[in-house]
Amino acid sequence: MAAVIKHASTIKTTCPYCGVGCGVVVSTVDGHVTVKGDEEHPANFGRLCSKGAALAETIDSQGRLLKPQVNGVTTSWDHAIKYVANGFSEIIKKYGPDSVAVYASGQLLTEDYYVANKFMKGAVGSANIDTNSRLCMASTVVGYKRAFGGDIVPCDYTDLDEANLIILIGSNLAWCHPIIYQRIIQARQQRPELVMVVIDPRRTATCQDAELHLPIKPGTDSILFNGLLVYCEQNDLLDSEYIQSFTDGFEQTLASARQQAPSLPEVAEACGLSQRAVEAFYQLFASQKKTLSLFSQGVNQATVGTDKVNSIINVHLATGRLGKAGMGPFSMTGQPNAMGGREVGGLANQLAAHMDFVPTSRDKVRRFWQSDRLAEQAGLKAVDMFNAVAEGKVKAIWIMSTNPVASMPNAQKVKRALEQCELVVVSDCMAKTDTTACANVLFPAIGWGEKNGTVTNSERRISRQRPFLSAMGEAKPDWWIVTEVARAMGYERLFPYNSAADIFREHAALSGFENARSRAFDISAYEAINDSAYDQLTPFQWPQSKTTRVGVDNDVIQAKRLFSDGDFYTLNRRAQFIPISSSGTAEQTSANYPLSLNTGRVRDQWHTMTRTAKSARLLDHVSESYVNIHPLDAKKYSIEPTGLVEVKSRFNHTHLKAKISDDVQPGEIFIPMHWNAQYTSAGSIDRLVNPHTDTLSGQPEFKFTPVSIKPINIAWSAVILSRETIELKTFDYWSYTPGQNCDLFHISGLNVPENWSVWADRLFNDKNLTISLLKHLDNEQGCFRFIWIQEGRLHTVAYIRLKAAIGNLNWIKPLFAVQILDPSDMQSLLIGESTSGEGGPIVCSCFSVGRNTLINAIVSQQLTTPDAIGQSLRAGTNCGSCIPELRQLIQMNTLEGQA
Ligand code: SF4
Repeated sequence: MAAVIKHASTIKTTCPYCGVGCGVVVSTVDGHVTVKGDEEHPANFGRLCSKGAALAETIDSQGRLLKPQVNGVTTSWDHAIKYVANGFSEIIKKYGPDSVAVYASGQLLTEDYYVANKFMKGAVGSANIDTNSRLCMASTVVGYKRAFGGDIVPCDYTDLDEANLIILIGSNLAWCHPIIYQRIIQARQQRPELVMVVIDPRRTATCQDAELHLPIKPGTDSILFNGLLVYCEQNDLLDSEYIQSFTDGFEQTLASARQQAPSLPEVAEACGLSQRAVEAFYQLFASQKKTLSLFSQGVNQATVGTDKVNSIINVHLATGRLGKAGMGPFSMTGQPNAMGGREVGGLANQLAAHMDFVPTSRDKVRRFWQSDRLAEQAGLKAVDMFNAVAEGKVKAIWIMSTNPVASMPNAQKVKRALEQCELVVVSDCMAKTDTTACANVLFPAIGWGEKNGTVTNSERRISRQRPFLSAMGEAKPDWWIVTEVARAMGYERLFPYNSAADIFREHAALSGFENARSRAFDISAYEAINDSAYDQLTPFQWPQSKTTRVGVDNDVIQAKRLFSDGDFYTLNRRAQFIPISSSGTAEQTSANYPLSLNTGRVRDQWHTMTRTAKSARLLDHVSESYVNIHPLDAKKYSIEPTGLVEVKSRFNHTHLKAKISDDVQPGEIFIPMHWNAQYTSAGSIDRLVNPHTDTLSGQPEFKFTPVSIKPINIAWSAVILSRETIELKTFDYWSYTPGQNCDLFHISGLNVPENWSVWADRLFNDKNLTISLLKHLDNEQGCFRFIWIQEGRLHTVAYIRLKAAIGNLNWIKPLFAVQILDPSDMQSLLIGESTSGEGGPIVCSCFSVGRNTLINAIVSQQLTTPDAIGQSLRAGTNCGSCIPELRQLIQMNTLEGQA
């Protein structure tokens, strides 16, 4: 089923992927959807990264969940809603409100989130609602609250244009927030004095443009920043007037820093860095007042994540680098609407509208909602919630727009917990995920392009997501589904909504309710917004109260930057220094588990790939998961490039292909977090990850799990490109990559089949296909090729090698688009060589330019800048996400680069 276009026109909406929150213009002409960046949106000014630029390729109905299901049987909405309402009601009646839970998502729109939170906390009477934002941002939330008295990001994107020093801590910005990264690179072209420092155990694409990279030992960031605080004190860099006028707790914090990080050599040693590198960083900090510290999951996803955040904030407070242009501690939000979720109280330890579980706030929310059963205390955070499911304490769980079986730490335990849970309800737009496989009830939710509501980005900017497609099948908005279930449970009075605008008005009104500047989150200026103004709403930053608006770029009543007057949201209105003495990781490497596992993202994928895997060109960049290991460790553990290895932790084990490079440090390995059981026999890598959490934030330590590694002796490997689905479960290792005209399969086996021709016949054994088969069998070289042709068109190609790797076969993909193959193409396929040369693995996804093509052009045309490559091949001229890789290729392939 094709997507049905709702408005044959142009509409402005917001990208659904990351917290940058880029504005998107969608045009629909003659049934075709095109997507481009919104030049007027202040988050991106027209730019989109590779993921955003490929959005139009992800809106078809392939794989969509189109109708409600109960116990595997398609049913009516009426029946599914009653089934869930009865199930929840009965369990609550029998075991109390804390026996049910909701696990929500930063993918939900704010209006969906608001209703889900009200359902649990205001109607059911339990705060057992948490969200996948717990895995992403929770440590930042606590860090900001401890320091500023509220979950308040004090910076905005204009600061990127003003800063002289940008410190990127635990953030591969070039791949994870590409538009922000491009903005920095652009700012540097205007102001070459802008310096960039990257603090990250890995050498990521972000390091390409940095003046300094500190490959820090995991878990020691707070020692580095405590050391910086001591250095500032020793070198007269403190802003004593600021400390005295606007803060509390400095002396105690400095004393604590001195104890943990007394001197530069001790800091260097503890952080695994050279003294020279630490000193260079501190000197840069000393030389530039306009300092922006951007941090992300490398800081948050740790058992000391909250303390790391506060160690960064402490340094900004101590040097008065806050509340002014170009400076401040700036959290880069991972998810598209993690911020919106934080605003409505989507975390189990928040109430709503930035209020907590204290008596005065409870009273306010209770009166505002007119709830007679408001949750009394904080509920279960994500890891505890699934533990409670495993222990049978939570007997019904409703999972909305997220995939915890793939994304939670110790994910196999989560899967087992859901499999034995009495009632598992999943609302999702996709039919087949690792989590939907565990559901009793499936609610089809609408997807991007069909949704109507708001999201908030990393700089507190609220933007509209607008629909340009009709809801697919019988899919419904998440707010509607929750509202209907709540009404069926007897809570009609609390859920009077007929539209997203109704919910937005209530949310805005609650944010201003008895606020009196006690909470920064206040958008009450919009509490009476009418439907048409809501439809037309342009992006704005909060706060926007009825009387005061704050922001650097708004048409304001009272224009000022947050915290520019030193007025914070703590009880005494002063910022709080937090003494930091923690460091390290929950688990340590050992003889049995000698390496540490770090997990993260690749450039062109998002989360568990439910959307981005629909775009063939996004999968071209990295089409198979891998484990990145340092050459010294590869040698130590006898691991070959692209060889299959077993990675094992205390919690689980898996098999993956090795990628050997010194992008990781010796003793550390890296595995991307996107792939899961839908795409590889390796399953989700999070099943290996330890479930330890930060005691304050509840955020799991995804960045450090002790593991072992060993080679797996595979007997053969195959790469198959096919129009047909292949039964993969019988293979020892497999990886599946959907494509445009053909899917790509990587397969490995431990035992050599007796007869390869029989093996090939069995690939499509059960299907009655009239196809002819060409074969190349070379037993001596251990090399076998099979080509299936159907009515002149290429149907399937299978290349098999014994004990040897198979090269990149991207050159074959275009042949699947050819109507009738000519004899030279068949000859190429049989000999396994492209007659037109091989472009190599894709580097530029926008224009499908491969690595080999780039290297050839760099060498033959002596191209020495990404601009020159752009002029020659167009690579890097659209979204710019590949520019760091272009620089790397120039560096590796030119004399200038190597000089
Ligand atoms: Fe979307 Fe890319 Fe912008 Fe993130 S940076 S919002 S993924 S276009």
